[in-house]
Amino acid sequence: NDKYQMGLHKSKSSFDNLKKLLDESDSIDDDLFDSIEDLLISADIGVDTVLFFTNELRKEVEKQGFETPNQLSELIVDKLFEIYLKGEFVDTTLRFDENKTNVYLFVGVNGVGKTTTIGKLAKQYKDLGKKVLMVAGDTFRAGAIEQLEVWSKRAGVDFYKKEAGVDPSSVIHDALIDAVNKKYDLVLVDTAGRLQNKVNLMNELSKMKRVIQKLLPDSPQETLLVIDATTGQNGMNQAHVFNEATDLSGIVLTKLDGTAKGGIVLAIRHLYNLPIKYVGLGEKIDDLVPFDIENYIYNLFK
Ligand code: GDP
Repeated sequence: NDKYQMGLHKSKSSFDNLKKLLDESDSIDDDLFDSIEDLLISADIGVDTVLFFTNELRKEVEKQGFETPNQLSELIVDKLFEIYLKGEFVDTTLRFDENKTNVYLFVGVNGVGKTTTIGKLAKQYKDLGKKVLMVAGDTFRAGAIEQLEVWSKRAGVDFYKKEAGVDPSSVIHDALIDAVNKKYDLVLVDTAGRLQNKVNLMNELSKMKRVIQKLLPDSPQETLLVIDATTGQNGMNQAHVFNEATDLSGIVLTKLDGTAKGGIVLAIRHLYNLPIKYVGLGEKIDDLVPFDIENYIYNLFK
């Protein structure tokens, strides 16, 4: 993806911000650690995660006996990788069984890019030759159903809807029965995102998950929380609320094409152990790429 390559290029030079800070510092002292903390906080990594990080950094600096600031450059990058990876291999691929009807549920507050992400992903699976069905599970807003339908046409995949106002669980139930009968490979489900009515929404989402579980207990499932990189620390709250209600399997971070650095996902990985699967880099159908940790970490310092 050209855009991602361009982003990488931009980020590598942006990484100079960290280098510059280290170059201009005379010694490794509290001032320097403060500046590193500021840099990470301005990248939207939450304060808790930043403090955990600099604490680890201090320990390592002492252990290795570093004395000049420039020695920190590599260590900082390594330590950020460590926080994200937690010593594990982190798989960005989504669970998929060729012989089953796979179901991916997309959750997140309104406006974060759920519909757009579903459209983009539908196109990718369709291009792989998969039979894809999009399901309009946000029956709360009539506009949401129409918008998803537009994306299904754009992606060239099938679309399942009922009228606005019906119970989303019944939409999912009937859609899944249809999908199994017609041998769809993948069902992508949109959901409502009205956080103003949190309790109802969370009950609704759990019910949808129970329906999926009951009808297709042996099919691979994903529950992906879509987060808008430009919302900064609000994303933490969203991760907390949705994770409690729906047992998430991963994150999609959208709108990383702007000035937002998306540090939030490092904090989410650190605090909730949720991996990022995909990154949105624009409004067009091809602007969705698998998460790349190296690119991401350089991007933090732009
Ligand atoms: P939903 O309410 O969560 O379904 O959000 P939508 O999919 O309707 O997206 C809300 C807005 O964000 C739309 O204007 C999209 O074009 C825009 N959007 C979605 N993903 C991205 C992205 O990765 N980058 C940018 N720049 N805009 C995006």
